[in-house]
Parts: sequence; C-alpha cells; structure tokens
Amino acid sequence: MKVLVTGGAGYIGSVGVHELVHEGYEVVVFDNLSQGHRAAVHPEATFVEGDLRDREVVDRTLGEHEPDAIMHFASKSLVGESMEKPFLYLDENVRCGVNLMRCAVKHDVERFILSSTANLFGTPDSIPIDEEESIEPGSPYGESKNVLERTLQWLDELDALRFATLRYFNAAGAASADLGEDHDPETHLLPIVLEVAAGKRDKIEIYGDDYDTRDGTCIRDFVHVRDLAQAHILALEALENGSRVYNLGNGNGYSVREVIDTARAVTGAEIPSEVGPRRPGDPPELIASSDKIRRELGWEPQYGDLEEIIESAWAWHRKHPHGYDDF
Ligand code: UDP
Repeated sequence: MKVLVTGGAGYIGSVGVHELVHEGYEVVVFDNLSQGHRAAVHPEATFVEGDLRDREVVDRTLGEHEPDAIMHFASKSLVGESMEKPFLYLDENVRCGVNLMRCAVKHDVERFILSSTANLFGTPDSIPIDEEESIEPGSPYGESKNVLERTLQWLDELDALRFATLRYFNAAGAASADLGEDHDPETHLLPIVLEVAAGKRDKIEIYGDDYDTRDGTCIRDFVHVRDLAQAHILALEALENGSRVYNLGNGNGYSVREVIDTARAVTGAEIPSEVGPRRPGDPPELIASSDKIRRELGWEPQYGDLEEIIESAWAWHRKHPHGYDDF
C-alpha cells in the first residue's frame, strides 16, 4: 500500500513515516518544511516539498503518486498561538485540510487519517474523556480540527472517503536518539523543561497554579510518539472495515509540577521554575480514555510511564543539543 504523509518531516509525522517504512509500506512525504526538517524524513521515503495551501500542487502530487491512503499530520497545532491568531487556524488549517480532502476524493484515495486533538474537549464533563464526550473546542486550534473532522464525516456519509480521526492528547518523547522533537520556537512543556535541564534556558515558567486540580497546575496525559505512530498503522488497516474515531492517550494524568519533578529525577538537574499567569485556551485537565482503540484494534501503548517517555526525550536532547541543526 502506498501512503502519502503530509507533515512527514515534522515531529509526529516523521515518526509515523519511520514506522510505515519499517512495516513495509511505500511512503511519499509531502511537507513545506515550515516546521519540519529534511533530515527527519526517512531516506527510503519519496520527498515532495510542497504547500497544502496550493491546491494545484496537491492535485498534481496525488495525480503523480496515486497513493492508496493519506495520513494528514501537517498542521498548525498550538493552542496559545491560535488564541492570538485565530485565522491562521480557522482559515489556513481548515483550508489546507479541505484542499487535501478535495484532491483525495478527486483521485479516488480510499483512506484518510486525520491528526486531531484533545483540544476538541475544552472543558469536558467527565474524566477520562471518551469518544462520547461532547465536542466544545477549547480554542480556534481545536475548532479547526473539529471542522476537519466534520468535513470527513460528511465525505463518509456521501461515500466519498473513509476516514479515521485520531485525537492525540499530549504527544511526547523521542522515537530514538536520532528522531526527536525540534520546534522553532519551542512552546511545549516537556522540551522546554529539558532545555532548562540542559542549561539552554534559565527556568521553566509554569502557566498558572490556581486551577482546580490537585496541585493547582494543569493536568495532561502524555503519550509517546511511537505509540501514536503505531495507532496510525492499526487505524490504516482497520479502515477496510469502515470509518472510525479514537481518543489516544495513556489514561494517566500528570500535573505540570509532576512533569517538572519527574524531569528533575530523570536528568539530575535542578530545573528552576517560576509561576506565571495562565495561558489562554488551556483546559485545566485532559486525560484520555483510549478503551475504544484498545478494544477494537488491540492498541497497546508501549510507553505508559512518564519517566520512560522523558528518558527517551532526554536521550535525544543530549545527543542533539541543537536538534536537527546538528545533522
Ligand atoms: N506549560 C507551562 N509552561 C510552558 C509550556 C507549557 O506551564 O512553558 C503548560 C501548559 O499551560 C499546559 C501544559 O504545560 O497546561 C502542556 O502544554 P503544551 O503546550 O506542552 O501542550 P498542550 O497541552 O497545549 O497541547
């Protein structure tokens, strides 16, 4: 099976590509390198540098490569940024996804997997969050994914495309010491904490400690990138039997303070912290119930433990202190 992977040079997409190649799929990566890194693309994948905003290029690429399936990782994906620049999300994220879906339908691509998000559930009614939870996006970012999910549901209804939407909770960790997380600018908790541990920053700012949680800081469910990649492959195969929606997390919540403490234990570094104001758009607590994908597809995360997740990320940071600039 041939799979076109958008965002295949990015943090999660590149790991998806490695797993696909490893399992014998033929892979075409489509990425504009705005956030991704050429060095993160698996050498056996075909690389196309292109932009999803340009529908002609997308159309041509699908016509040329004729993939059987698409995994759509490429996205703006920052909650905080989306609160400041809503149209980057409500216009651009949506437009890129819809361009891709439109071309997928035109070229008879049968399977489509969308990277979606826990931010669909701004303030959930119940924790852990399962697929029955009502959708009330916490930010324009979450809303952009909601629109794309809804678009796929219509395309399925119209018999045009089969889809799986995978709602990631907090993707974390490195797939190996040579395949890790490198954003510019970095805004995510764990890589910033590790940059402090490595002496590249003075301190980690904790965005609010007055939430209604056990220690006042936000609680998140961290899931290893390799486990996410594995879920994509299971979903890809299961699409044979119809469209589906899954929440993807470990089912364990860790507070921001607990993440910092665990990183202190793993790295042996002091990691100074300071409490600052809340970041707009941040839900207090997001923990997944992934019972459905475990039950239906036999998904079994291999990295359930936060310590192990941080260890993998720390190995990448130590080997590549300048990220992909080191390659
Ligand atoms: N966070 C923080 N300081 C930082 C970055 C993040 O306190 O420098 C918090 C953030 O408010 C959220 C959690 O860490 O509660 C996870 O944020 P991240 O941006 O990593 O992922 P998100 O949950 O937004 O997808």
